[in-house]
Amino acid sequence: MPLTANAQTPGEQRPEWTLVIHGGAGTITRDRITPEQAEAVTAGLNAALATGSAILAGGGSALDAVEAAVRVLEDDPNFNSARGAVFTWEGKNELDASIMDGSNRAAGAIAGVTTIRHPISLARKVMEESPHVMLSGAGAEEFARDHADIEIVDPSWFATPERLRQLEELKARQANWFDVDLKYGTVGAVALDSEGHVAAATSTGGLTGKRWGRIGDSPIIGAGTYADDRGCAVSATGAGEYFIREGVAHEICARVRFLGETLQEAADVVLAETQTLGGSGGVILTGPSGEMSWSFTTPGMYRGRISSDSEAEVAFYGEAE
Ligand code: ASP
Repeated sequence: MPLTANAQTPGEQRPEWTLVIHGGAGTITRDRITPEQAEAVTAGLNAALATGSAILAGGGSALDAVEAAVRVLEDDPNFNSARGAVFTWEGKNELDASIMDGSNRAAGAIAGVTTIRHPISLARKVMEESPHVMLSGAGAEEFARDHADIEIVDPSWFATPERLRQLEELKARQANWFDVDLKYGTVGAVALDSEGHVAAATSTGGLTGKRWGRIGDSPIIGAGTYADDRGCAVSATGAGEYFIREGVAHEICARVRFLGETLQEAADVVLAETQTLGGSGGVILTGPSGEMSWSFTTPGMYRGRISSDSEAEVAFYGEAE
């Protein structure tokens, strides 16, 4: 089956720093995206690239850059994370996020929170100020309340009319949760900093109409997010249940580390395997060599990249488009 991919091969010298971001994968085709949507998504991705790259250009860490880039997208209602998150079957917005530091493989994640403005920052708090890797639901909210710099908002902050309409459409059509027409809009970022460290971050509202406390791949370290200086940094978007079963993010890093594959080769192989299970989606990647890649098995993926050697670039569609 055709895989849609696009890699930037590193030059003789690695760029000092890199940043790659995504705003979800799915049925993103020219005939479905209005000029207004394209403009809004482009502006959102460019704002996230600008925020993250300013940190990296100033000598900041990959970890700070991916958190900052994701925070921008979390506030943007055009993406399925925090503000603009999809609705659960019961009409709530339940948020999942994770972050990982490739320099020491420290990681933090939260799942099913409903009042945290920036779930990615709470995930980082779990990583840095708790003995745990993953907190969920009421416990995660309680942990957040003990940290004054974690902003708590009313759940109505996350709700948008368009996402409510998507829930109503799903219920009316009795559509499948993995119907790619209802595109995945998760956000993520991966970066390499001037010290040679990588980091990855992912934040999502999950799938429209999810129930029973369903949690996808995005907050699962090794599935939706992974970072290891010895391999690469990965953030995923797609049909979470399949990404969990394949261990997508870790599997890509392991192939890079043990088989010596390029990021592009490893990502293409792992996404093809995930597709044989029935799950489509995409990943963004960067590594210590300065390679910046993406790969997806959906018609399109909102994505962008920038490095110390290259200008900001934003793309939506696959090669077939
Ligand atoms: N991967 C996410 C999930 O399954 C959905 C997405 O990528 O939009 O929760």
